[in-house]
Amino acid sequence: MDQQKIGTRCVQAGYTPGNGEPRQIPIIQSTTFKYDTSEDMGKLFDLEASGYFYTRLQNPTNDHVAAKIAALEGGTAAMLTSSGQAANFFALFNICECGSHIVASSSIYGGTFNLIAVTMAKMGIEVTFVSPDADDEELDAAFKDNTRAVFGETIANPALTVLDIEKFANAAHRHGVPLIVDNTFPTPVNCRPIEWGADIVTHSTTKYMDGHGAAVGGAIVDSGKFDWMAHADKYPGLTKPDDSYHGIVYAEKFGIEGAFITKCTAQLMRDFGCIQSPQNAFLLNLGLESLHVRMPKHVENGLAVAKFLQEQPQVSKVSYPGLESDKYYELAKKYLPNGGCGVVSFELKGGRTAAESFMKKLRLAAIETHVADARTCCLNPATSTHRQLTDEQLEAAGIPAGLVRLSCGLEDKEDLIADIKNALA
Ligand SMILES: *Cc1c(COP(=O)(O)O)cnc(C)c1O
Repeated sequence: MDQQKIGTRCVQAGYTPGNGEPRQIPIIQSTTFKYDTSEDMGKLFDLEASGYFYTRLQNPTNDHVAAKIAALEGGTAAMLTSSGQAANFFALFNICECGSHIVASSSIYGGTFNLIAVTMAKMGIEVTFVSPDADDEELDAAFKDNTRAVFGETIANPALTVLDIEKFANAAHRHGVPLIVDNTFPTPVNCRPIEWGADIVTHSTTKYMDGHGAAVGGAIVDSGKFDWMAHADKYPGLTKPDDSYHGIVYAEKFGIEGAFITKCTAQLMRDFGCIQSPQNAFLLNLGLESLHVRMPKHVENGLAVAKFLQEQPQVSKVSYPGLESDKYYELAKKYLPNGGCGVVSFELKGGRTAAESFMKKLRLAAIETHVADARTCCLNPATSTHRQLTDEQLEAAGIPAGLVRLSCGLEDKEDLIADIKNALA
């Protein structure tokens, strides 16, 4: 398995049918599973045996697809969640509790920013946001005694900043905590954060992994490298007995490679129930089967569109890490040698009005609250996701009123450019 390349893993990892069994991953459309004796079932409830008893916690279809994603990221264990939001919440809440502190890059998806800054604050979990460009000294200064995790996005949505994963991982490890990286935009085809020191990787599988705008979902992958026992007093949830499972200690019973995902399933899925439906897991797997074929095309289109936009007089700024003029070009060369993704952000000189009339004239690119889809789509945050903010507040948030986020799909780049050209005219 370790010898196999990424494309082979996209197609085949996670499920190997036996003689006469279905070639495609079966959708186990069942809430529950049957046992011959109460003793058999009791062993599952005690985590003494592995198996399925209720789809709120685990389902075989999901586990095949999660195993594929673990293989793609080079992790030891993985689980699917109902959404990317649930994945990031679970990844953090699995190791944080009331009184904990998180260090997070300030350049992250708005939904995750809100989750950490507002909703998790209500649970008594504090955060210090740091610039993705922070140096070691600034990073070190953000840590506190109660810091339990560092969080960032490989390529941030929508700012398109590139995280210096090694720098953030080193800072996290100097302070004895894991680095969690949301790898949604590049996908493991273009970057595998674990190879650069990340400990936990999360995904909104809703984006490129599904890739067809068909199913909302998320995933969490454990690298199996973070030594919880070496920092036992920080992570009592993993290193002290769990009374709800007869006092088992996850880090002892499931080891460094399995403790994180087992605890996350046994406690958080049990209590919050944010599982992905097996139907969605099946659709996600169809997307994964062609991920390695689709990503290079998204990158090709993104780069071509970014280069075209850069030459247009109506455009004041283009952000795309693959452009030589981009602030993150050097980091992109290191972490994303085959390119990052198909999302391009650019600013129109005429502000909000120009963005609105430009988007109205596009024929191929549809206005959508979505990115990373086979069909090109676009969004003007000032008139949609951020419409409650004034132009001054937008400027301060780094989202100018004329900013357009364009997610280049899988169409032919000549047609995408012609569509943009026509709308700019
Ligand atoms: C969309 C997105 C999320 C949230 O995922 P959902 O599946 O919409 O819940 C999280 N992180 C990033 C980087 C995203 O793009």
